[in-house]
Amino acid sequence: MLAHLDQSAVVDTNERVISVALSVRDFEYHDEYDQPPLDPASPLREIFRAMVSLLGDTPEVSSVRSEMGAALYPDLEFPGSVAVEVVLCSTMEAMHFAWETHGEPVGIFAVTGGPYEEAFADKLRIIVPCDEAYLRKWIEEERAGSSAVDPYHTDRKSDERALDAFLVTLTHELEHALDFIRHGGGISPRDIDTLSDCGEIDFDVTDACTGGFIREDMKCVDLDEHNDLMEERVEAAGRRLFAKIKPRLDPDIYSECLAAYSPASFEDLDDEYSSPEMF
Ligand SMILES: [Zn+2]
Repeated sequence: MLAHLDQSAVVDTNERVISVALSVRDFEYHDEYDQPPLDPASPLREIFRAMVSLLGDTPEVSSVRSEMGAALYPDLEFPGSVAVEVVLCSTMEAMHFAWETHGEPVGIFAVTGGPYEEAFADKLRIIVPCDEAYLRKWIEEERAGSSAVDPYHTDRKSDERALDAFLVTLTHELEHALDFIRHGGGISPRDIDTLSDCGEIDFDVTDACTGGFIREDMKCVDLDEHNDLMEERVEAAGRRLFAKIKPRLDPDIYSECLAAYSPASFEDLDDEYSSPEMF
């Protein structure tokens, strides 16, 4: 961690709004990943693409306010617009292999370039797996869990809850990227790393992720808590963002997705859903 200036004495006269352009691409398949390629007809791919399209037009996404004290760096030029790319891949294993990540994260906000660039990324990128087998299992487990604890549980309700939780992966990772823009003034991970290494800025890539020493609410927080606070903040914001776009999602795309990964047939679910007063 770098030494940090006393920012409390500095008034930021450069508070800026940064415009964000969201795009989506499919991850190119490589033999060495030993994973199936992304199925172009996958309902998960379709719904994630529909979500990206809605999110791109959402004001909270398309313009963000920089929280970084740009006035501290009068010699640096900060971008007025930033691209964020959503990469859809087939499985979590393919994602972990390509970005050399470990553990259980369902999606990634990638500050490293993975297969695209050496070391740090020169553009903001989030990776979301359209992992159909994983989602099927998730929905099954949610059903089993719900029926054990909730006497009023219905399969449709628990299936929707599981699907929504999975779809929040996209908005959660997007909130990490938006945070990175707010904290880093729109500079790419690679440039933040370079500028930080040569002492031109007093924060590093980790600080730009967490907002540590940059955000007003993170200036006096113990270093050990930075990650936890970041995850809490991003999870809540990702859920809010999903709740905002869900009503605008094409109901046919949503139903098709639910039917594709739900253990019961769509007709069964539809029957059950035809009596909303039961909820
Ligand atoms: Zn996260």
